[in-house]
Parts: sequence; structure tokens; C-alpha cells
Amino acid sequence: MLQRMRDGKTKTVLVAGGAGFVGSHLCDALLLRGHKVICVDSFLTGSRANVRPLENHPRIRLIEQDICHLSEIDEPIHQIYNLACAASPPLYQADPVHTMMTCVAGTGNLLALAERHDASFLQASTSEVYGDPEEHPQREDYRGNVSCTGPRACYDEGKRAAEALCFDMLRAGRADARVVRIFNTYGPRMQPNDGRIVSNLLVQALSGNSLTIYGSGEQTRSFCFVTDLVAGLMALMDVNPNPGVPVNIGNPGEFTINELAEMILTMVPTASEIVYRPLPKDDPQRRRPDIARAKELLGWEPKIPLSEGLQQTADYFASVLVETDLRPKTASAKPRAGLTDALPIGA
Ligand code: NAD
Ligand code: UDP
Repeated sequence: MLQRMRDGKTKTVLVAGGAGFVGSHLCDALLLRGHKVICVDSFLTGSRANVRPLENHPRIRLIEQDICHLSEIDEPIHQIYNLACAASPPLYQADPVHTMMTCVAGTGNLLALAERHDASFLQASTSEVYGDPEEHPQREDYRGNVSCTGPRACYDEGKRAAEALCFDMLRAGRADARVVRIFNTYGPRMQPNDGRIVSNLLVQALSGNSLTIYGSGEQTRSFCFVTDLVAGLMALMDVNPNPGVPVNIGNPGEFTINELAEMILTMVPTASEIVYRPLPKDDPQRRRPDIARAKELLGWEPKIPLSEGLQQTADYFASVLVETDLRPKTASAKPRAGLTDALPIGA
């Protein structure tokens, strides 16, 4: 039953987390390919605005639901993407038990759904499974340096457990499970008060607030534009046979946080200055994907350089800030319903 060829046909594709930043771009791309999309989202960190343009689309169905309490879907499903999980550190730490349960119980529920429907399944895992890595760049066979007791553990260990579930279901012949390890991704439709570095710095620069850098700013990240990521997700879902191994998807260009801030200050006309704040506990010092496996198995590599992607993202936030009149108020932006802590935009 596994690896059944379904290429070239219109499929019904369930996207859990489809109202989120990445998920909404994935829904767009799937609809563009002619597929029917079922978007399941609790709107914990996603936004109705992300899916509002799709609401009246004849081939999308929106289901507001937490994947920890998933109901049966009353129609055949061919593919399931599991992107449902808060991804920004302050957001996934706001309710860490729920984050862990989303990764474990939620992923388990979706894998069981995949088994019942004989659907292919793709799990959005993360570079966080490498923790604060001692090997650089990170290859998929590196086992990582993760704290199982620290504040990031709910996410890092949750995602590691979700990977284990996927490979157990695959080995048992119960689900055609695939695992992508996503490195820092940015682009339009990130939430302005999401708390991640690209959204924080761009919103701060556009609104004239200080750019907050945690620690020395010499820590590095590798930033992938969202359309490149979505192409990689779809390539891994569609490749046959299932590679049966996790695949890194990210842009290997590596930048310090100071370099990113300087790029943004050059790009956005602003009087903002940089301020330094304490580094959060367990914050990884270096991160860069080795993407040899994605190139070999999927023929995938990123196309959008950081300067180009950042400009598109800056243009997006500029329009959002005008629409929502957030400009003078970002330092005290309120968290959305379901989030328990204030977010550190102007921290
Ligand atoms: P996001 O927060 O914008 O999207 C996550 C979506 O999942 C939101 O719409 C949220 O409401 C929904 N959600 C969260 N918990 C849920 C639950 N229990 N039930 C139903 N819906 C739930 O984040 P994103 O950046 O779009 O990330 C998407 C996925 O990719 C996540 O699984 C994340 O772990 C993974 N990922 C993202 C990045 C990145 O840089 N964007 C990096 C690594 C991994
Ligand atoms: N960071 C920062 N200022 C901010 C937000 C984040 O300096 O306003 C740092 C953070 O400490 C980390 C890096 O930027 O070193 C990337 O953080 P992000 O939350 O985007 O993702 P992470 O890769 O840590 O999950």
C-alpha cells in the first residue's frame, strides 16, 4: 500500500497548521496545482487573515480544531502535511505542555488519520532537533545537542519525539511518513508580534523602535525564504519512493544576528538604533544546514537570496503596519487570544 503512485492526479490534501505563516503559503501552492485542500488549524499562532483570501475558494475547506483532539475527516485524504505547532520561541514557551502535547499527541492523531486513509504524511520537523549543535554545518546524521530539561525542550524534544513516531509508523508499514527538518524560514505572513528575529527586527525598524539583539549578536542563523521552503516540502511529499530518512530544508547562507540587523538598517529608512538584551537560555550559537541530501534526493536548492527575500518581507510588514496602525504601538503590542505572555517585540 505504501508508496502508491498518485502522481499527476488531483488529490485531497490536509494541511494541519494551514492558517500559519508557512502553512498558508503551502495551501496557496497546493490550490495552484489544482488540489483540494482541507486546512485544520486552532488559530493558536496562525491568523484568519492568512486564510481569508482562500475562504471562498471552491477547493478549500477550513476546520477550526486542535490536532490534540482531532475528529475523523469524512472524505478520502491522499496527503497530510503536519505543520501545526507554534514555532516562535516565546510562543511555544508560553504554554510548553501544550506545545509538547501538540508534537506528540497531535502528530500521533494525524499519523493515525494517515493510516486510516492510506495517505502520505509529511512531518514539519526542525533544525532545533540539533539543539545547540557541536557539529557545523548540520548534516542529517548528526544526533544533536539538546537539553531535555530547559525552556526549549517542549519544542525540541517534542519534535524529536514526533520524528520517532513517524519512523516507527513507517517501519511498521502503517504510514508513508516523511520528515523534513526546517531551518529558520521567513517571509510575508509572519505575524508582526510573532517574536522571531526577522519579524521583530523588520517591525522594529519600520516603526522606529530600537532593534533588539539578544546576547552579543554574534550567534548565527541561516535564513530561507518561504517560497523556497514550500517547494522543498512539496518535493519531499511527492518524491517516490519515500526516502525513509529526514531531509534538511534551509538556505545554507549563514549570517550573524548583527549582520542581519545591519542589512535591515540599510534596507529600511529608519532612525532606529540597536540595543542589546540578555541572551535567552539554551539559545543555539551557530546554525547552518548541510543540504546535500535535499539536492541529491529532491533536486532541491533555495533560489531566493536573503537581500531579495528581506525586501519582500519588509514591503509586506510595511503594508500590514499601515493597515493595522501598529506603527507607534509595537512596543506594547498585545498577544493574541490563546497566548499567555506578552511578546518581546520591543523588549
Ligand atoms: P506558525 O506559528 O505561523 O504556524 C503554526 C500553525 O499551527 C498556526 O496556524 C497555529 O495556529 C497552528 N497550531 C499550533 N498548534 C496547533 C494545534 N495544537 N492544533 C491545531 N493547530 C495548531 O509557524 P510556522 O513558522 O508557519 O511553522 C510551521 C511549522 O513548521 C511548525 O510545525 C514549525 O515547528 C515548523 N518549523 C518552522 C520553522 C520556521 O522558521 N518557520 C522552522 C522550523 C520548523
Ligand atoms: N533574537 C534577537 N532579537 C530578537 C529575537 C531573536 O537577537 O528580537 C535572536 C535569538 O536570541 C536567536 C536568533 O535571534 O539567537 C534567532 O531567533 P528566532 O527566535 O528567530 O529563532 P530560533 O532560531 O532561535 O528558534
